[in-house]
Formats: sequence, structure tokens, C-alpha cells
Amino acid sequence: MATNTTLLYDLPPLPAYQLTPRPSLVDGIPDNILALILPVVAYWAVSMFFHVIDVYDLFPQYRLHTPAEVLTRNRASRWDVVRDVVLQQVVQTLAGLILAYFDEQEYIGREEYDVAVWARRIRFVQRGLPYLLALFGLDASGVAANFSRNGHKMLAGAVAGGYYPGATQSIVSSGGIETVVPAFTNWEMSLAAFIYWYFIPALQFTWGICVVDTWQYFLHRAMHLNRWLYVHFHSRHHRLYVPYAYGALYNHPVEGLLLDTVGAGIGFLTSGMTHRQSMWFFTFSTIKTVDDHCGYAFPWDPLQHATTNNAAYHDIHHQSWGIKTNFSQPFFTFWDRLFNTQWKGEVKLRYERSREAAEKKLSEGGMQQDSDMENSSSDFAQPNGEAAVVSPEEPSDRDARTRLRKKTASFSPSVDSLKGVNHGVPSSVL
Ligand SMILES: [Zn+2]
Ligand SMILES: [Zn+2]
Repeated sequence: MATNTTLLYDLPPLPAYQLTPRPSLVDGIPDNILALILPVVAYWAVSMFFHVIDVYDLFPQYRLHTPAEVLTRNRASRWDVVRDVVLQQVVQTLAGLILAYFDEQEYIGREEYDVAVWARRIRFVQRGLPYLLALFGLDASGVAANFSRNGHKMLAGAVAGGYYPGATQSIVSSGGIETVVPAFTNWEMSLAAFIYWYFIPALQFTWGICVVDTWQYFLHRAMHLNRWLYVHFHSRHHRLYVPYAYGALYNHPVEGLLLDTVGAGIGFLTSGMTHRQSMWFFTFSTIKTVDDHCGYAFPWDPLQHATTNNAAYHDIHHQSWGIKTNFSQPFFTFWDRLFNTQWKGEVKLRYERSREAAEKKLSEGGMQQDSDMENSSSDFAQPNGEAAVVSPEEPSDRDARTRLRKKTASFSPSVDSLKGVNHGVPSSVL
């Protein structure tokens, strides 16, 4: 009897496990390599989705900028953007390949064991409950007996310190001897499985997101505070006053490596994610960044409503008047709010002014400098020798203008509609 009682107070044993290498998700492509490919594929797939919407002007009512602005205000050609994005993706993939070289083989087969380890931790926490109740002057055994009388056996067991006399299992040793040993209860196993399969991965993603946001905020802000950094690196991204989806990673290669690749890499490495998790993490981060530059404030895009950091929010940072605000990217606005760098002024009139100026410029032939050029010098946006302005006389650009002028009449309704209730900028950014 004494032996049996001692046994029941013991912790349930942990199951044995056998490790086997984790098979790759796609045959022939190791998971850590797929984690490098997917973000690039997602970048262009999602970008093309927005590009089609842009080119065919499918949702004029949700545009942040008019097509006239797209043509007149940006200081980089589409080709410049594609070239630099591809370069950044090549650098990012090479960095990932170097990292992948040092990756250790991932194994499966330990999941049940790890869930049981969490179940044990839950049991340990219960061991402390009687002491906790005692602090409040309650007698654990009395409370447990009360619960038990009312049919709440599990609650009684938990309050008693994780004591479940009825929860047993029989195990057969290698010598063929059957022994009755304690077992975890169903609720302990369910909670342990939830922690292992959902809670910990969610924590890892949250950590990764926080690392990326923090890394990007401080480096991005430093790029705007330090003239040398701005002139040599970050000014390139700001050649896009009217961002569009595939311009999201239009950066100087050094900035692309520092801000995006290293930031996401540190987020991944410090979170303990598996390669499969990293596929989601890298791909999701990439899609969010593309979405932030899509040039639309869509009511049906969940990414734009999950947090207040969205395309409308980041678009303000791309304007000459908002460039010293809204540094936070890509997930939350926490750091902007903490350091009071959030844009707080009005935006409606400013957006309208830009639209009207772009229309006027187009109708006049697009020869004079626009306000972005004039205003940007104080933001280091167009320093000497760094402007690299796309010539308005560049043949492709001139053709586009001719095409656009022919279509100007059809743009007018969209321009008018943008002057409506919120002209595409959700109130959350105001
Ligand atoms: Zn910036
Ligand atoms: Zn941007």
C-alpha cells in the first residue's frame, strides 16, 4: 500500500522517442532553401496582383495617389526599381545560403516527448497551488474535498497539488514486467499540446515580429537623422514619392542587406523557429512590406487592418512633408508612438494638393519641377549628385505621358472620387 501511494505521488514518466531527419516539404528542395525561395516568389506574385490593379485602374476609389502622380512624381524608372529589387533579392538569397551552410539537420519524432515535458511543467505548477492558497489563508485539502464532493474531480486534483489517484497507466518494461504508474490527465495533456503546438510558435512569431520592427525602426530613423547615411543609402528608397507594390524593396543594396535581410535574420535566429516556421515568417514579412507599398487603402485587405501600420500609414513617410515621421515598419506603430514620431497633422489637403499639382504638371507637359523636388532638400531627399532624377525626356517616360494624356479624361472621375469622404486614407492614420 505504501509503495502504491508513493507511486501515485510520483510524476508520470516521459515517453521514449526516436529521432528521424525531417523530410523536406517539397521533394528535392531542403526546407531552409525553400525558406529563401518562397519570399522572392511571394514578393513578385503579390506585387503583380497589385500591379494589375494599378495598371487597369480597377479600384480608383481606394487609390492613395492618382496615375498622374505615379507618372510625374517618382524619381526612379520602373526599370531602376526592378533592377535594384532583383539585386537586393540576390544579396538576400546569398546571405541566406551562407547561413544555411551552417544549419544543423532538423529531426522529428520528439513531439510527444516534448508535449509530455510541458505536461510535467503544468504538474509542477500545480504542486505550488496549496502553498499559494495557504498565503490567502485557505486550506488546500479542505478546498479540494469540497470540489470533489461537488463532482469537480479535476479541479480537486489540481488544487490538491496535482494529485490524481485515478490517473494511472500500465507500462511494460523491456523485461516484460507490467507496472502501474501515474499518468497525466486529459486536460493536462490538452493544455500541454496547445502550449507546444500553438502558444510557443505564436510567441516565436511575436518575438520575430518585435525584433524586425525594433531593428527597422531604429536603423530607419538613423538613416533619416544622419545625413551621410541618408545621402549614401536611404535616399534611394525615397525616390518613390508614390510607392507601388514592387517598389517595396527598392533600396540601396547596403540598406537592403542591413535593414531587411539582417533584421529578419536576427528575428529568425533569436526566436528558435524551425525552418518551416521561418518560411511563414520570411514570406509573411515580405508580403506585409509589399502591402505597405501597394499604393492602395483597401477596406478588404486584412493586412491593412490587422494593425494601424499599413499602406496609408507608410505612404505618409514617402511624402516630402511626412518624411520625418512614421518610421515604424512593417508591423506595428509602437515605436513611433513611444518616441512621438507619428504624423499627427492633416493629410487630406496635402494629398489633394499633390494630385492637383500632378494633373496640372501633366496637362502642361510635365516640364517644371514639382513640389517634391523643392521640399525634399531639407529632408536630405535630393542631395547634390544623389538626385539621379529620371529625365522627363526619357523616351519611355515621354511615351507614357502621351498615353496618359490621352486617358486623362477617364482619370478625372477617380480623382474626384478620391476627394470624397476619406480619399482613401483611413482615419486610423490621422
Ligand atoms: Zn525613410
Ligand atoms: Zn517605403
